[in-house]
Amino acid sequence: MEALGKDVVGLTVSAPVPVPLKGEGCAEEEVGVVEAKGERGGGAKGTLRSEGSGEVAVEGLRTQVSPYQALPTSSKIVRNLAEAQPVMVFKNEEERKKAVSKVIKDYAALLKQRTATHMGYPYNLAFEYGDLDCLLKYCINNLGDPWIESNYGVHSRQFELGVLNWFAQLWEVDQKEYWGYITNCGTEGNLHGILVGRENLPDGILYSSEESHYSVFKAASMYRMDYRKVSSLATGEMDCEHLKTLLEENKDKPAIVNVNIGTTVKGAIDDLDRVIEILYDVGYTEERFYIHCDGALFGMMIPFIKEAPFVTFKKPIGSVSVSGHKFMGCPTPCGLVITRSKYIDALSDDIEYLNSRDATIMGSRNGHAAIYMWYTLTMKGYEGFTEDVKKCLKNAHYLHSLLFSKGIRTMLNERSSTVVFEKPNCGEFIRKWQLACQADIAHVVVMPNITKEKIDQFVGELMESRARA
Ligand SMILES: *Cc1c(COP(=O)(O)O)cnc(C)c1O
Repeated sequence: MEALGKDVVGLTVSAPVPVPLKGEGCAEEEVGVVEAKGERGGGAKGTLRSEGSGEVAVEGLRTQVSPYQALPTSSKIVRNLAEAQPVMVFKNEEERKKAVSKVIKDYAALLKQRTATHMGYPYNLAFEYGDLDCLLKYCINNLGDPWIESNYGVHSRQFELGVLNWFAQLWEVDQKEYWGYITNCGTEGNLHGILVGRENLPDGILYSSEESHYSVFKAASMYRMDYRKVSSLATGEMDCEHLKTLLEENKDKPAIVNVNIGTTVKGAIDDLDRVIEILYDVGYTEERFYIHCDGALFGMMIPFIKEAPFVTFKKPIGSVSVSGHKFMGCPTPCGLVITRSKYIDALSDDIEYLNSRDATIMGSRNGHAAIYMWYTLTMKGYEGFTEDVKKCLKNAHYLHSLLFSKGIRTMLNERSSTVVFEKPNCGEFIRKWQLACQADIAHVVVMPNITKEKIDQFVGELMESRARA
């Protein structure tokens, strides 16, 4: 059992490519034997044996061996840019208009088709912002601080503040005690949260699990911070015992901890309460630690799941960030970060040219994003998001069970809509469904636009592609 748990880990991060089984990817019924040699703590050298569709429960996740194996990942990332759409030159105005209109029409059709067969990234593509089309002819820019108007009047700060207040209420921080802004994406939220931590604890060490989003380690390298990678459990969750060991080794330095509210690949939620408990146990006081919660995807889902671990500023956290184009479903990349006002003074400067304060990472900021967020929060309300979350979790279980019943190795974390399974070995299939792959696994992040019918189509085509292989 022990070995089995670790095998799941081995499959994911350290990229030990499983030995291809007999008949390379053929769909015959066989008994699968997989040897996965992990490289991490303790060395996962277990041999996983399972007969037919034998199912084994491992702490909240199900694994299965099937005769099918993913292709080894190619060792090199190749440059594969899309073909360029040249900027066209015309002498005749009528021809120009005709040509441009055709290009746009074709492109719109392509987008429609790609949207219909998208499964891999955690983007909610079911949205309708037609009411806001009239705003596209304005350059809305919230440059500078949300609370301090610059002299540029074409902004949407009133919507931005409304959205920020909504999230402040969600995460239980008093309106006078928080600061935040609408970012360009979840990455910017992480860059900001970690920067706030660093500026308040200049010699702090950054701790984050190895399954964290790459933007966390990008922050460490941009800010030239000392960091420690904490190992993860089979589920993808931070190994808190390892965190404790690392903290004890570096007790003399303040700690900046990134806690994942939903990891990118497996959708695992780090145990925030346990992290806080460990910090106190090791002897850290609140003045010597800073916790940033990376809630890019699940930050917007777990508030609507009963009994889920709760993110709140009533706990000693420093900041939370989410992406706006993930679960919320905004039509442009965007995000949001909230921190405590007491922390923000450490990095803000007054800028005369803006007549505003400079505490954001970006200068010019997407004013449309604030309106998209405000609109979707208003149109859906709390009930709408609760319904969306329920639907996603239900469909994720459906997909997981369906894959499982077909003999495909799969796992699903509790309270997650990220269904992990073995990477299909058909490149065409991966491209069509736009699957995100890491080492020998792929995942589908079930979002509100992924219906039961789409799941049936997806699994049907997956089985066909395996039979062909
Ligand atoms: C997607 C993701 C991010 C980055 O968000 P972007 O909006 O793509 O920049 C950060 N952390 C986690 C856990 C994510 O899943």
